[in-house]
Amino acid sequence: MAANRPKVIGLLGGMSWESSAEYYRLLNELVRDRLGGLHSARCVLASLDFAEVERLQVAGRWDEAGVLLAEAAAGLEKAGAELLLICTNTMHKVADTVQANVGIPLLHLADATADAVTGHGLASVGLLGTAFTMEQDFYRDRLAGHGLRVLVPPEEDRLTVHRIIYDELCLGVVREESRQSYRDVIGRLVRAGAEGIILGCTEIELLISAEDSPVPVFPTTRLHAEAAVTRSLAP
Ligand code: GLU
Repeated sequence: MAANRPKVIGLLGGMSWESSAEYYRLLNELVRDRLGGLHSARCVLASLDFAEVERLQVAGRWDEAGVLLAEAAAGLEKAGAELLLICTNTMHKVADTVQANVGIPLLHLADATADAVTGHGLASVGLLGTAFTMEQDFYRDRLAGHGLRVLVPPEEDRLTVHRIIYDELCLGVVREESRQSYRDVIGRLVRAGAEGIILGCTEIELLISAEDSPVPVFPTTRLHAEAAVTRSLAP
């Protein structure tokens, strides 16, 4: 392979495919913007059946989910991927299992996000995502490892945020009423001290943008795609 060609980005996607489609669009737009002309992203995609993954999540069978993702990641490496993205915040719960099964670097979504938040000079940040992401340690601890104080919504708000992700956004349904619910949750996080809001689920940016928040938002799909393109184009 020519030394000066961008590295092939491996996408572990389908979780859900609504956000994987965004990853694909963003990667190509970012490469076009940085290289110009007809340049586009060199990438390979493994797209899982999200119903299978979601069943394992709900059952708490994370070890099996880890094996499923790790096998798909190995397939991406065989297909030529030179760096790897898990295209969902939640499934970073099994990031170590995935990384252990491949010889290519995994670009951790929480690291890319934390770099953006600290780059803005913020210390306290609100986190929106699935209940798994908001309530378990794997993601919050990774952010805290970058020196961030992470605020999550109270239980009732977490239920709303989670339900809208699985019942609407992962199915491509974008409702104004749900946008307003998220705006309300964001307002309460800001009143609790959040200086920024992490859109910590790869579908949330289908619903929420900067104008829905009085403080900066950090869209994880875009931030992850930007980090991947930077790494792909690095010498
Ligand atoms: N894509 C979502 C995330 O970023 C939720 C779907 C999933 O559970 O993987 O967490």
